[in-house]
Amino acid sequence: MPKPKAAKLSFLAPRLTAIDTRTAQPAPKVADPHYATPEHQAWRAAVIRRAGGMCQAPGCGRTGVRLFADHVRELRDGGDPLDPANGQALCGAHHTAKTASERARRQGERYHRPRPA
Ligand SMILES: [Zn+2]
Repeated sequence: MPKPKAAKLSFLAPRLTAIDTRTAQPAPKVADPHYATPEHQAWRAAVIRRAGGMCQAPGCGRTGVRLFADHVRELRDGGDPLDPANGQALCGAHHTAKTASERARRQGERYHRPRPA
């Protein structure tokens, strides 16, 4: 006896669209011109080569995926742009997660900055 086909459900498109209700818009993302320099390209290649083409996030180790050379201490936080010791290779998921958490931390610091006495 042939297996019955599962019924296909179709849905109406949502009639409401999402609106951006943030009262404080984050600054537009502007790429640092540093990332276009040959020095950065060389640093990036060295960081990924040193990692053996593997994501260096603890417990990840993904290979065969696009890797991002990440500044452990971000440039906007005063990290050295070209020191290989300030670099780690991260897969897209870990790079995105780190970038988001660094951004949240930075915004939190700005918000919670203690007032001078
Ligand atoms: Zn990873």
